[in-house]
Amino acid sequence: MKLYEYQARELLEQAGVPFPPGRVAASAEQAARAAAELGPPVVIKAQVLTGGRGKAGGVKMARSVEEAGGRAREILALRIKEIPVARVLVAKEVDIRKEYYLAITVDRSAKKPVLIASVSGGVDIEELAVREPEQILTLHLDPQAAPRKPALRRFLSRVFPDSQVEEALGLLLRLYRLFQSKDCSLVEINPLAGLADGSLLAADAKVVLDDNGLFKHPELEGYRNAEEYSEDESAARAAGLAFVGLDGDIGCIVNGAGLAMATMDQIKLFGGEPANFLDVGGSSSPEKVLAALNILRKNPRLKAVLINIFGGITRCDDIARGILIARAQAGLDLPLVIRLIGANQKEGAELLAREGLAALKDMSQAVKAVLGAARP
Ligand code: GDP
Ligand code: MN
Repeated sequence: MKLYEYQARELLEQAGVPFPPGRVAASAEQAARAAAELGPPVVIKAQVLTGGRGKAGGVKMARSVEEAGGRAREILALRIKEIPVARVLVAKEVDIRKEYYLAITVDRSAKKPVLIASVSGGVDIEELAVREPEQILTLHLDPQAAPRKPALRRFLSRVFPDSQVEEALGLLLRLYRLFQSKDCSLVEINPLAGLADGSLLAADAKVVLDDNGLFKHPELEGYRNAEEYSEDESAARAAGLAFVGLDGDIGCIVNGAGLAMATMDQIKLFGGEPANFLDVGGSSSPEKVLAALNILRKNPRLKAVLINIFGGITRCDDIARGILIARAQAGLDLPLVIRLIGANQKEGAELLAREGLAALKDMSQAVKAVLGAARP
């Protein structure tokens, strides 16, 4: 789950990381008021869930309250990487002498958190990583042990001048505590501003939370942003379905993630392209099948739908009822291929047969049938 900069700031400030004072605004008037409260000069920054705002014109300086209103109006009219800007952060401008980069993320291949730092932070960090990778330093951390300060000090002294190493270490330890305690997959400060008086201040923040750890942090659920998810994905989450939209034209409704993956594999094996991954879960009700069909149906590319159910805790007759309700409710005019086996398969097949629908037993046969139906 990605957070907006202002949300990331909130978490980091709670963890003790210093930022210039700032306010969120949803209109030019609010932004002007925020600038008046903070006292110009201020920086106006688009709040979108993507990086590279600076280069896209989403970060602007303002020397007066009026200018702040004008700049905010311009930024609120922008689309950054297709995304409209609904809010800006108005932050007190700081006199940045040096831009450092400091982040912690997960190195999946090493199965460890990794610390990343650079003396050349700022908007060009991605290019730098390609052009001069030696400018970007990394250090793996042992997730089971307390961080070892001497090793961290040695690492930081390769990036920061001696006089700033202790302050950077304090910051880093606070970042790491947040990273671990909230199950983050990324915390990033770029730029970490070196000021004229030698102190460090975070001038931008990015936090990504691990969705799989979110159940442990109900207090963070309120940070969820609709912008991160497609309409389909939001509807699926509300209905308790695991859904991922894909580019193909064969809709899939399957029970169990493993079977859903195997179904997509077979569709590809026989020359087709799945339109989605959809797992209705282990204990599916007619309502879930109905919700699944309603989500799939919105996809204009869809040519046919395959329902592949291996009944266990899920009962085939429940699935059959869901299919029939969905068909009755809103004329499902696409070809539908159903494969049902397992618990209550006979009852399920009978319910479908009464409405003129066949229930296949063999999975490959069902996959071939749906591909045939999609390409008459
Ligand atoms: P990003 O482009 O999405 O990473 O947005 P940032 O918030 O990092 O801003 C981009 C750049 O604007 C930074 O790298 C800085 O160079 C500059 N910037 C942002 N805030 C300030 C500020 O308060 N003072 C100064 N001098 N520059 C700033
Ligand atoms: Mn930045």
